[in-house]
Amino acid sequence: MKTKSRTAAELQRELVEQLNAIKEPASTSDTIATITKWLASNIDEFGSSAETYGLGRFTRLDISSLPIKMMAHNPSEEIDAFRRVARHTVDALAMKIRDAIWTAIVWQTSEQCPNCLNDQLRALKTARTKRIVLACDFCGWAQTLRGERWSGGEDLVIMNTEELAAHGMLDRMHKN
Ligand SMILES: [Zn+2]
Repeated sequence: MKTKSRTAAELQRELVEQLNAIKEPASTSDTIATITKWLASNIDEFGSSAETYGLGRFTRLDISSLPIKMMAHNPSEEIDAFRRVARHTVDALAMKIRDAIWTAIVWQTSEQCPNCLNDQLRALKTARTKRIVLACDFCGWAQTLRGERWSGGEDLVIMNTEELAAHGMLDRMHKN
């Protein structure tokens, strides 16, 4: 049974209602859990944008395994952005949701992107061979741990806290 698809404004209003229901002060974990739970129930509304922005992977997250508490992230700002800035297309809302979740859960290293100097590289790993790839959200640059340009060929997946610790990535952050 297919129900009539909802507009971006309707979807955003629903999401904001869920975010407003979080007990203050909202932690990043609560915020991300709320967004991903809502997303899991509504992913079909995003059509091809869900694929474009890889939203599916966020509906299967084990929040407690991710380094959320160790990241510099302001959940109130994130929630406010959903409250204040209306997205006029489902595609724009999908992108905003991707960015909101991504910045809260994907480990950001202290290494600056050598390509654009605009952002610090985030730690990901190759899906099959489990190698670390440091990638820039801003310009799309990606490199190996040794700084060699990574040429792609494998999907990149999000690293959990245990994997980051095993690779010394968390220490790497704290030393700086
Ligand atoms: Zn860059």
